[in-house]
Amino acid sequence: MSEYGFDTLLIHAGARPDPATGARQTPIYQTTAYVFRDADHAAALFNLQEVGFIYSRLTNPTVAVLQEKMAMLEGGQGAVCCSSGHAAQIMALFPLMGPGKNIVVSTRLYGGSITQFSQTIHRFGWSAKFVDFDDMDAVAAAIDDDTRAVFCESIANPGGYITDLDAAAKVASDAGLPLIVDNTSATPYLCRPIEHGATLVVHSMTKFLTGNGTVTGGVVVDSGTFDWSASGKFPSLSEPEPAYHGLKFHETFGPLAFTFHGIAVGLRDLGMTLNPQAAHYTLMGIETLSLRMKKHVGNAEKVAGWLEGHAAVEGVTYAGLPSSPYHSRVAQICPKGAGGLFTVALKGGYEACVKFVDSLELFSHVANLGDTRSLVIHSASTTHRQLSEEQQIAAGAAPNVVRISIGIEDADDLIRDLDQALAKAST
Ligand SMILES: *Cc1c(COP(=O)(O)O)cnc(C)c1O
Repeated sequence: MSEYGFDTLLIHAGARPDPATGARQTPIYQTTAYVFRDADHAAALFNLQEVGFIYSRLTNPTVAVLQEKMAMLEGGQGAVCCSSGHAAQIMALFPLMGPGKNIVVSTRLYGGSITQFSQTIHRFGWSAKFVDFDDMDAVAAAIDDDTRAVFCESIANPGGYITDLDAAAKVASDAGLPLIVDNTSATPYLCRPIEHGATLVVHSMTKFLTGNGTVTGGVVVDSGTFDWSASGKFPSLSEPEPAYHGLKFHETFGPLAFTFHGIAVGLRDLGMTLNPQAAHYTLMGIETLSLRMKKHVGNAEKVAGWLEGHAAVEGVTYAGLPSSPYHSRVAQICPKGAGGLFTVALKGGYEACVKFVDSLELFSHVANLGDTRSLVIHSASTTHRQLSEEQQIAAGAAPNVVRISIGIEDADDLIRDLDQALAKAST
């Protein structure tokens, strides 16, 4: 299957006609459990000696198709679907971390990720060091003996920032650590982080992958290339697992070690499982990913260019614009375009932003992005509200900034709506 082009994989990867009925579309296997052939079959499944379906907290045939598809689209070996993007982030870190361990992460992350990493993971005894990923010496210097991963976004949400993934991968690899890349804003259509050296790729499938704002979902894709046994730093994957009679995941499953651990321990015990209905909606969305992303990018380029020339606008951070300091990274990291997401700063400040979002008619003011419909949010008063002003600015969500997620409507209609709202905001 991997010899096919990307657009063919969107439709066919992981999917085959249903063996029971011949159904051409992947059925929604709305079942909790699966009948064992006999007691020996059941025992083999529970011992991980045979791969099969036991209980839908662990595996489900609809979800399995999505997992295989995502692994192929990202060029990885395996994938584990999760109930949300945030669940995927915890599932990515869980096998690597332990009390007292830390991750080195980019300051330019989705606001929810900053909160998850700066606050919530402390409850597990984990911590995160936030570093500017434009300063790779600082990233390398932040790594210590207790660091277990380096984490960044490919195209960062929301700041119009593109990470030099090749440089980040080199720093991680020199330190013997995995690089984890959140590829939500780019999707594998625009960027394939594994080709730049990423070990793991995480997604919020809630966004562009499903594409129309219907479900929450996440996925962790494993490149299968990291040597979990080399350093002794990843005992969950390299050392005997008591719950499976001393089985060593890396020794037994090789490049699928992370994926098997994610299902057999992660989903089993953390239970952040994607449900088959959500997997179905995501599978439907992915079929049109290329068509949609092309239109998202084309529209974003037009709208961002128009906004940049507007008198009420202080600036637009879209890496697709030649004015962006990150424009030169587009060719390296995401040659088909810089995505559908950017921020606009208004000269009128916080007040103008609030008036602007309240005056839009076609755009919806919501806490979401990556929808077929155009969306806006004033991050400083919503998603990034819990952050200090310093963190807001570092994350590209200063008080005078509005985040825009460009949909696949007619660009001229979007521009007309923005024009009338900007007129109201500047009076
Ligand atoms: C939305 C988002 C997340 C979190 O995903 P959920 O599905 O909402 O849990 C993580 N990273 C990025 C870049 C996002 O946009």
